[in-house]
Amino acid sequence: MSRVTDEAAEQPLPCTAGPAEDRIDVLEARVDTVGAALTIRRALPLRQRRMIGPWCFLDHFGPHEFSRRREGMWVGAHPHIGLQTVTWLMDGEVLHRDSLGTVETIRPGGLNVMTAGRGISHTEESPEGNEGRLHGLQLWLALPERARDTAPAFEHVPQLPRFDDANITGTLFIGEGLGLKASATVHSPLMGADLLLAAPGEHVLPLERHYEHGIVVTEGRIRVGDRDVGPGELVYLAPGRAAVVLETSGPARIGVVGGEPFAEQILLWWNFVGRTPDEIRDAREDWLAGRRFGEVDGFEGDRLSVPELMRLKVR
Ligand code: MN
Repeated sequence: MSRVTDEAAEQPLPCTAGPAEDRIDVLEARVDTVGAALTIRRALPLRQRRMIGPWCFLDHFGPHEFSRRREGMWVGAHPHIGLQTVTWLMDGEVLHRDSLGTVETIRPGGLNVMTAGRGISHTEESPEGNEGRLHGLQLWLALPERARDTAPAFEHVPQLPRFDDANITGTLFIGEGLGLKASATVHSPLMGADLLLAAPGEHVLPLERHYEHGIVVTEGRIRVGDRDVGPGELVYLAPGRAAVVLETSGPARIGVVGGEPFAEQILLWWNFVGRTPDEIRDAREDWLAGRRFGEVDGFEGDRLSVPELMRLKVR
C-alpha cells in the first residue's frame, strides 16, 4: 500500500466545520446541450469556482443513448490554444481527428490528451458502428506560461495505472495522485481519476495535501460532510487535506480532479486559453482567416463558427 494511502488511513479527517482546509463547497453545475442532443453538466468554469489547480473546464456528458450518429458526439472542427484537452470515457466511443493528421478512437480504459500549445484544430464524433451509448468526462488543463506556446501534440494512452483499495477501485488517468503516476505528458502538478465506490459504507479517499480537489459524481450519490451530492454538482476541497470521507448507501462512481492552485491568471474565451485580450483576438482572427490552426480531414460536417468577441476581462 502506498505512502499516501497509509497517511490517509492514519488521519481520516472529519468533514466538519473547522480551519479553512476543512471547508467543503458544493456547487451546482450548469446544464447545457452539445450538438443535437447530448446533455452535459459543466462543473468548470463556474462563477463561484473558475479553476481547480490547472483544470479550467470540466464537462460530464451522458449517460446518453442514441440511434443516429449525429445524436451522439458530433462536434465540428474548432481551434484551441494554450490548453490540453483530456477525454475520458466511462461508456461508448469517440473518434478524434485533428490538424496534425491524428485519427484515433477512444474507448473506456484509454485516454486521449491533445496539447494545443500555440494552435491546433480538431473534431469529435461518434464513429460508424458505435454502441449507441455515451458517458464520459471532457476536461481542459490550462498550460503554464513556460509551456503554453509549445508545438501542438496528441497522445493516446491505452494503459493506465489502477487504484485498488479495499473500498475504492478505479483508474488514475492523468498526473500524480493516489500513490500512482500516469504517463501522459503534463506541465504542472495535477491528477485526474475515475473511481468506483462499489460497496455501501464510509470510504476514505486519499488526497494530495498540496492540491486543491474537485469531485463530480457520475453515477449514484455520495455523502460528503453533511451534504448529499449527485450528478450535476461539484464538490470543492481546498488544499491541506490528506483525505476526505465519502459515504455511500449504494454503488457510486466519481471523477476526481486535483492540482496545485494555478499561480497565473488566465483568460478563457470560447476554445482559447490566453493571458491578454489581444492574444484571444488574434487567435479568433486566425481561425476566421484560416490561418494557424491547419485543416482537419475526414469529418462530414461544418467547422464551428466563432462567436462575436465581447469585452474580455482577465480573471
Ligand atoms: Mn475541443
